Amino acid sequence: MLESGLHTIRLLESEALQKRNSNLKYLLEIKTDNLLFPFRWQAGMTGSINRKMPELHGGWDSQNSHIRGTFTGHWLSAAAYTVEETKNSELLVRANDIVDELGKIQELNGGEWVFPIPPEYIYGVRDGRGYWAPFYVCHKVLMGLLDMYRILGNTKALEIVLHASGWFTRFLEETSRETLTRMMDQQETGGLMELWADLYSITRDPAHLALMRGFERPALFEPLLEGKDVLTNMHANTTIPEAHGAARAYEVTGEERYRNIAESYWACAVRNRGTFATGGQTSGEVWTPMNQQAARLGDMNQEHCTVYNMIRLAEYLYRWTGDSEYSDYIERNILNGLYAQGHWVSSTMDSICQPLIPERKLVTYYLPLKAGATKKWGTATETFWCCHCTLVQAHSRLREFIYHTQDSSVSVDQFIPSELRTHINGEEILLTQTETDLGGSCNQINNTAVNGYGRPKLWSRDIRITAEKPVAFTLKLRIPWWVKGAPTCYVDGIETPYEKKQGYAVLTGEWKDNIIRWVLPKAVTCWPLPDEPETVAFLDGPVVLAGLVGEERMLYGDIRKPEEFIKPANERLWNYWTGDYRTFNQPVGFYLRPISQIGDETYTVYFPVRPTK
Ligand SMILES: [Zn+2]
Repeated sequence: MLESGLHTIRLLESEALQKRNSNLKYLLEIKTDNLLFPFRWQAGMTGSINRKMPELHGGWDSQNSHIRGTFTGHWLSAAAYTVEETKNSELLVRANDIVDELGKIQELNGGEWVFPIPPEYIYGVRDGRGYWAPFYVCHKVLMGLLDMYRILGNTKALEIVLHASGWFTRFLEETSRETLTRMMDQQETGGLMELWADLYSITRDPAHLALMRGFERPALFEPLLEGKDVLTNMHANTTIPEAHGAARAYEVTGEERYRNIAESYWACAVRNRGTFATGGQTSGEVWTPMNQQAARLGDMNQEHCTVYNMIRLAEYLYRWTGDSEYSDYIERNILNGLYAQGHWVSSTMDSICQPLIPERKLVTYYLPLKAGATKKWGTATETFWCCHCTLVQAHSRLREFIYHTQDSSVSVDQFIPSELRTHINGEEILLTQTETDLGGSCNQINNTAVNGYGRPKLWSRDIRITAEKPVAFTLKLRIPWWVKGAPTCYVDGIETPYEKKQGYAVLTGEWKDNIIRWVLPKAVTCWPLPDEPETVAFLDGPVVLAGLVGEERMLYGDIRKPEEFIKPANERLWNYWTGDYRTFNQPVGFYLRPISQIGDETYTVYFPVRPTK
């Protein structure tokens, strides 16, 4: 099985690093007292209800929400990942303080219950009452605590989880399978199955294995194993964490049935269903019908939580198989999902031309794909959706997907500037990935920019390997799905042939101080709706382009040759190349730009294209 290089990866200057930093800033802005309030309230520690509390969180985290306090679990998880990378001492102290305080609250609650809601919500769901997702709330809190232990070694956090597991063991003993199944059909359970599998991997306690199996959902898993499509019109973000549960269960038990469930889920959700051009899915939070998307373009496409959670499922499957199908999916959903829906920062030109545009936007619940769409941005603490929760986790874990190692091989899976420091056969190697300089200076004479004169039609990465003495290992470079023509590999400036395997270029050799240049030609291509093949979205390599128009526009041309009606526009600003395009030879022209760069603009992603008369 491949391993993520998570603990040994550091982001370098890039969009990913900017977003990670914006995420860190946001984590620090949220006040500890607010994160703890729902827990203290539940434990009877807040005193009179007449006390003025002007800064309480709103939305899903508000006092009258049944799922208040879930954000705190996500915050702890994101803090753990972020501290592990940045060593930010303020965030570390605050995260540890919150764990300590949750420990005190657990004691006050009798030694087990540590949640921001009363256990009566769970009993209420058991008895058929309409409480909103109490198991989901419990999962988030336990996940945050367990991540504080797994990532940062906070043993108090593990202790709290172990005590809380006692409550669940008793609940399971008291509850019939039939009742539990009904509860799972009624309200989502989040990732409780995955959580118990994680806990079992640490403790190997049969009680935790029993909890993992208890939170299986046969009503979903059995038909998936039979190859049935049970997902059409089913709530996506309820079921994806259940697939995570099966995936983690396979890893901790080795039982093939669990692996088959996770792989069947993927086939049903992605491979057989098809995705939007963005790589995302869902409309109104449910899976669209198989290859039927035209009637589902709307203002509630691809909930942010589903984008993050499907990336996590792809990561599981990639680690088991090493197949580029999954790392391709992750790239597409980072670029057109996570980047498009979170931590938006205005570009230099936006702030010059329209100084009133706010510099920062936090998260959009959905990414609308209808004609004339706008992104609806959430505020820092007033709206508080589930997607704020997955926002902070996603942007604390971007580095997790960049490299993977196995025995004596290293794969470069995502083209995000970063460093990997790892050991192969006992020798330390440092792998540094940077963007190749494609004419990025405007102060010096730059031959690349002068000779190329236009925006390069390629991506290029320089991967430098440094080691004390020569180390033999296999380097694998992803050949992305969008590459236009064969990628070229140069080792120390010399074009070098490579083998192809599972969507990767495979280079075997001894490495000490070498620079590998990986050049990926790209082009603008069309991505049709499966059930309306003459309506297409445009991609620049893997990047979806959004037309800056407020209504559907008919375009005229050949969808196999979009270069005949779309060309670069506004392509150079100071020392960087933009991603802008414009249409030409059309009745009325318009501009397009990467969907991740859309802030408040009205945009349209899909366009009907008819042959030129
Ligand atoms: Zn959400």
